[in-house]
Amino acid sequence: MSSFSSTVPADTDSLPGHIHRRGLMLVLSSPSGAGKTTISRRMLDLDANLSMSVSVTTRAMRPGEVHGRDYFFIDPTEFNMMVNRRDLLEHAKVFDNYYGTPKSAVEQALQAGKDVLFDIDWQGTQQLKEAARDDLVSIFILPPGARELERRLTGRAQDSAEVIAKRMAKANDEMSHWSEYDYVIVNRDVEESVAAVRAILQAERLRRRRQIGLSEFVRGLQAGL
Ligand code: 5GP
Repeated sequence: MSSFSSTVPADTDSLPGHIHRRGLMLVLSSPSGAGKTTISRRMLDLDANLSMSVSVTTRAMRPGEVHGRDYFFIDPTEFNMMVNRRDLLEHAKVFDNYYGTPKSAVEQALQAGKDVLFDIDWQGTQQLKEAARDDLVSIFILPPGARELERRLTGRAQDSAEVIAKRMAKANDEMSHWSEYDYVIVNRDVEESVAAVRAILQAERLRRRRQIGLSEFVRGLQAGL
């Protein structure tokens, strides 16, 4: 188990009868245009214990994006330095650009007992799975139909026709990885999908292995404490 999966807040570690929880890493993957960004934003609004992992990327900033909120936009030299210093939890080339998850922010959030949401592709998910399987919960979001996916992909005014064509091809490629995920949601209705993600998160938070101090707690119950 790698160090970032240790999520027990130090101050509650030694209290007898106190149940605390390991933080978890919630990954949402989907082809572009399946509605994942909207679902992620809603989840962050609704759940105070969830924080977003902000990736680094070498791609150009799109209009409306904010450095430090949507991504940390860095140049390829900086990206390579982060890879070499092992500052990234995972990294991958997606389309023609490089993306990666900075390790320190995730470690800090998990140490503070917060769950972390990741918007990363299947390559990154595989790497996280290898590094921290027990702490990982992965969800794949599928679009409701091919027409709707096409509509959503062409509807993004920021990108050129060439970029859109590439996205279509990549969407098919990305979708072929659906079966590597723990859960699959077909995004027919955003609110329903958000409710499904919340239900998954709630159930996963209650997993026995994530609740630390249960044995002591039950012993206390049995002893009438
Ligand atoms: P976009 O450029 O449209 O924001 O993202 C393109 C793709 O890159 C999306 O599928 C997104 O999930 C993925 N992506 C974003 N950040 C990361 C990251 O840090 N690691 C990996 N592996 N994929 C990422």
